[in-house]
Amino acid sequence: MTIIHCRIESANNPESDFPLNNLPYGVFSKDAGTARCCVAIGDSVLDLSTLYAEAIFPDLAENVFAHTTLNAFMGMGAKSWSYVRKQLIELLSTENDIDASKSNVIDTALHAQSSVTMHMPFAVGDYTDFYAGRQHATNVGTMFRGAENALPPNWLHIPIGYNGRASTVVVSGTDIHRPLGQMKPPTAEIPHFGPCKRLDLELEMGAVIGMPNNMGRPVTVKEADNMIFGYVLLNDWSARDIQAWEYQPLGPFQAKVFATSISPWVVTKDALANFRISTPARDVELLPYLQEKEPLLYDIDLAVHIQPQGAAKATTISNTNYRNMYYSAAQQLAHHAVGGCKMNTGDLLGSGTISGDDNKAYGSLLEISWGGKNPVTLDTGETRSFLEDGDTLTLTGAAIGDGFRIGFGECTGKILPSPDFNP
Ligand code: CA
Repeated sequence: MTIIHCRIESANNPESDFPLNNLPYGVFSKDAGTARCCVAIGDSVLDLSTLYAEAIFPDLAENVFAHTTLNAFMGMGAKSWSYVRKQLIELLSTENDIDASKSNVIDTALHAQSSVTMHMPFAVGDYTDFYAGRQHATNVGTMFRGAENALPPNWLHIPIGYNGRASTVVVSGTDIHRPLGQMKPPTAEIPHFGPCKRLDLELEMGAVIGMPNNMGRPVTVKEADNMIFGYVLLNDWSARDIQAWEYQPLGPFQAKVFATSISPWVVTKDALANFRISTPARDVELLPYLQEKEPLLYDIDLAVHIQPQGAAKATTISNTNYRNMYYSAAQQLAHHAVGGCKMNTGDLLGSGTISGDDNKAYGSLLEISWGGKNPVTLDTGETRSFLEDGDTLTLTGAAIGDGFRIGFGECTGKILPSPDFNP
């Protein structure tokens, strides 16, 4: 598939994250205006509420784009999602002639990305985080429990997950305070309280649920895929020293609750359709309810960048790909719902940390520095085992087409010191 030529010229730049093939959804505001829904196109955003008011989407029952989140639109289902995409491509493609009035409508709805503020694209219902990267699970298991016990016995059979916090999912650009908590280094006799010293990122993709299921009703993997509206970049910030002390037997708790960052753009399944691939070969056959009958994973290049305070530019510390996951989001969602759990519009599923084969492709500093034993050297000459105050961490990602890219923009956050707290 090649680029769909767009009448907005910046969208035709092969380096742009946002060609007409992409059309990811977000929520923006400008000046003192209220937040409303948009798509990204080239270096601009296109205000969908304005387009609705100008009758670009006559078959859509109401102006859901005037809302401050995408939830109402996401809850309309796949027919409406495809319809809006079709209308936008028809309006913006140079293949079609449009009259002067339509041209004026585009001009009215178009705003430079540099002139707008991006907000949380959707209200997060529940947030669940999985542990579906085999290399990551092997690395972390080796460090926490030893090489013999690296992969838990259930790992090849179940997409392991835990229920996280929706309340602290934030949009890219939000500063992150270093968390406080209780830790006990292996050499210490008793635990202590204070700022986390091993603050880390986790490079993940987030699947955004559009359509709900009914409580008590399982869904097939295929039905689960149909429920997914799209995907975001996701950073599951992690406090490793808090995690190591607290995680047994019920999994992470305080180590993960303080913040999860997502990209402002939700890239749709329609935009990613040409980049579907199968999950890797299985060591052991999955139970039938988890088996995929078609490719439901995606080929998406991902990277991690660190920019220390005062540095002129960021250093890329990892390049990997979403295809490294052992379980697709559809499999995770099917597993989530099979016991009776109701999933709602706006629920967010973290993929689990996405690590490739070696320390240039790992999705966390814990793995890249191997628990702090091999610090990574940045372009500034500084080294990092874990994140320092003042560091800005950025995730990027794109599916790479022939002369175009389906990009996700950036998922970024700056580390601020711990809050003052003297109990
Ligand atoms: Ca995680």
